[in-house]
Amino acid sequence: MNGSWSARTRAVVAGRPHGQGQPANVPIVPASALGLDYSREAGTPTWAALEEAIGSLEGGSATAFASGIATVSAVLDLLPAGSSVAVPTYSYTGTRGAFEHAERMGRLTVRRIEPADTAAWVSAAGEADLLWLESPTNPTLDVMDIPAVADAAGSTRRPLIVVDNTFATPLGQQPLAMGADIVVHSATKFIGGHSDLLLGITVAANEDLAGRLRDARTRGGATPGALEAWLALRGLRTLGVRFAEASRSAALLVERLATHAAVTRVRYPGSGAMVAFDLADAESADRACARLELIHHATSLGGVETTIERRAALPGDAHVPAGLLRLSVGLEDPEDLWLDLSQALDSVTT
Ligand SMILES: *Cc1c(COP(=O)(O)O)cnc(C)c1O
Repeated sequence: MNGSWSARTRAVVAGRPHGQGQPANVPIVPASALGLDYSREAGTPTWAALEEAIGSLEGGSATAFASGIATVSAVLDLLPAGSSVAVPTYSYTGTRGAFEHAERMGRLTVRRIEPADTAAWVSAAGEADLLWLESPTNPTLDVMDIPAVADAAGSTRRPLIVVDNTFATPLGQQPLAMGADIVVHSATKFIGGHSDLLLGITVAANEDLAGRLRDARTRGGATPGALEAWLALRGLRTLGVRFAEASRSAALLVERLATHAAVTRVRYPGSGAMVAFDLADAESADRACARLELIHHATSLGGVETTIERRAALPGDAHVPAGLLRLSVGLEDPEDLWLDLSQALDSVTT
C-alpha cells in the first residue's frame, strides 16, 4: 500500500492479497479454528482483509463485529460501572436504546445534548467519561462539530470521543483525523451497500484502544459471519462510485424538493446520499409513501435501491417530527426518482 494513494483508490485496493500466485480477492474463510487459533479470538483472513481496508480509510485500527449495534455494546463494555456519558438527544434509535438500557440498569449516567449545541458538548467534555457523537444524525441529519468537541476533550480530562460515521461513510468524513478516539460504522448500510448483510466495524485511533475493542468482541462474541465480512469488503470496492453517484442524485432531488408546495422543510447536510424532508403531518407523509411506485417504502438505508421511511411511525421514534420522511438515495436514474416523488407529493397537495 502506497500511503499517498487517495481514499477512493484505497477503497479498491486495501486488504487485497498481493504477490505472485495470490487470488485476486480474499477468500470466504468459514473456519472456527486456524490451527491453534480460535477465530472468535484471533479472527480470520476474511475479517482481517475487511479490517485492513476500513482501517486504511479511517486512519486507524479496525475490528469487525456482527452488526452496527454490536459496536455500541463493545464501546459500552470499555466503561467501568458508574461512568458518565453524553449522547445526542436525537440519534439512531438502537443506539439511544442501548444507552437508555445501560442507564436504567444503573450502569451509566447519561446526559443528553442537542446535536448542534456545540457549546453544551464542549462543556460536557469537561465532565463526561465518554462523548458519543453521530454526524450527520439519523434521521434528522443534524451536523455535529466534531473538531470543536474533540479539541475541547483534548484539553480537559480526555473523555473518549466516539463518532458514528455511518451516514458520512469513510469517504465522506474521517473523524479520527479530527481528533476522535473511536469511529463506529453500521456496514449494513453504505459500506455493504446492497441491503444483503448485517455487519459493524470499529476503528480505533491507537492499538491500545483497538486491543480493548478486540477483547470486548472476544468476550461478547458478536463476531461477523464469514460471508458477511466478504460481502462487506466486496461492497466497499464500489463505495466510491456508488456514494458519489447517489450524492449527486440526492443534491438534485433536494433542489426540487425545496420548491415543492407539499414540502415544509428539507434537511440536508450539503453532501451525501441521505435526505430528510417534512410534510405537513403524518397523514400527508403516509399518503405520499403509499403513492410511490419506484421508491421502496421500507426501512434501512444505504443500498443501491432508494428507500423512504416515516421514522416517527416506528417504536422509540416518537420524538421525530410526525411528517418527516427519511430518504436514502440509491442508484436509479434521478429523473425517474423525481417523477415518482413528485407524483406522490402532488397527491398530497391536491
Ligand atoms: C443502522 C444504524 C446503526 C445500527 O447498525 P446495525 O448494523 O443495524 O446493527 C447504527 N448507527 C446508525 C447511524 C445506523 O443507521
